[in-house]
Amino acid sequence: MRSLEKSEQLFHLSQETLAGGVSSTLRNVMKPVPLYLEKGKGSRVWDVDQNEYIDYIMGYGPLILGHSNSELLEEVSRATLNGQQFGMQHKAEIEMSRMIVNQVPCAEKVAFSGSGTEAVMLALRLARAFTGKQKIVRFEGHYHGWYDGIYTSFPATVSGGSDSIAATQGQSEQALKDILIVPWNDAQKLEAVMKEHGHEIAAIITEPVLCNSGCIYPVEGYMELIRRLTTEHHALFILDEVITGCRVAAGGSQERLGILPDLTTMGKAIAGGYALSLVAGRRDVMDLISSGKVAHLGTLNGNMVALSAGVATLNILNRNDGEVFKRMESVSDALVEGLGKLMDAKGLPHLINRIGSVFHLMFTELKEVQQYPQFLTRDVAQYTAFTEAALQEGVLLRPSGLWYTSAAHSMEDVEETLRRLEKAINRI
Ligand code: PLP
Repeated sequence: MRSLEKSEQLFHLSQETLAGGVSSTLRNVMKPVPLYLEKGKGSRVWDVDQNEYIDYIMGYGPLILGHSNSELLEEVSRATLNGQQFGMQHKAEIEMSRMIVNQVPCAEKVAFSGSGTEAVMLALRLARAFTGKQKIVRFEGHYHGWYDGIYTSFPATVSGGSDSIAATQGQSEQALKDILIVPWNDAQKLEAVMKEHGHEIAAIITEPVLCNSGCIYPVEGYMELIRRLTTEHHALFILDEVITGCRVAAGGSQERLGILPDLTTMGKAIAGGYALSLVAGRRDVMDLISSGKVAHLGTLNGNMVALSAGVATLNILNRNDGEVFKRMESVSDALVEGLGKLMDAKGLPHLINRIGSVFHLMFTELKEVQQYPQFLTRDVAQYTAFTEAALQEGVLLRPSGLWYTSAAHSMEDVEETLRRLEKAINRI
């Protein structure tokens, strides 16, 4: 057994002064203890007990170039030797916005913030201002950040019929009064909601592929339906690409799946592990910011550290005709194929859904999952046991089942991962 003694001691110590002992609620789900890391390089991390791991958490998605990519670090250091935060303008903002406009299908103009949550907040504000309407349609099982106006539980399936859709104590119920939750991939329900409420709906917001709950793809025609209904009802189509943006293709899922939203939100991978997010979209909508009608604020918006990281990350990703994307694709392919064979050989019923370098593994008898309630039937306890065993064998996985690979993951990593996971499976 690996010793996790120092992580345990540090977690104990941190709880005296750090609320919850971690800096984001989700991080304390890691068993048997939230790990304390000392170093990351490429696809690997080392904890304070000197254990080494192959990492598939990858900072919850941002580390598309892997840990401590030397070119990225050099570019950020070079740029920030001249200043880290001006609260004024600099050229990297223009450079990054031009890159986004060039590579993201719906992007005509761009606005930067620090987190995915802030980007979603701004996108919803723009939609309400543009349409003059208040209600927002969102889907069960999708995650769009944790601010009061969008963070919900899902009454129909999760909390068993409670009237409240607030996801946490302390959340303003008032802030959610204009949110309508619709089951994902159900065309009839969406059409019915739009028929009844279309005149009050400012936007439909959706993840392109339901990365946060099983990497479920939209059923055929579903995105086209959202496109049509939003246009017909003078509402905006917001595609939340905080996970998939600049990760599954240079232009995100909208390029890969051929979707044209009015607005998109991106974060995570766009700056390779630095705090940067953006809203991009139609010029006439984004111009509400230019005209001063919609407020877009933030002390650290567009700071040098994040923007130089963003420019460097996109430059590396776009080099040699997107060769990095192709490499990530083949590594993910090989990993998913190997995992499938491994699970089959061990007689573990499972399902893997993947888009590019992000995929979801669940233990289930189902051969296909298209609806969020189906996703909820997976064997969570068994998967959690698997992640604990994997940690003991040196593979870092999220209990949620979502895996990220990066440009730093190699075919050798895949082989080593499969060897380690074979041992892990034997433990559960
Ligand atoms: N939107 C999606 C699709 C996400 O997956 C996330 C975070 O995981 C967010 C928004 C919120 O982003 P952040 O955690 O950077 O606030």
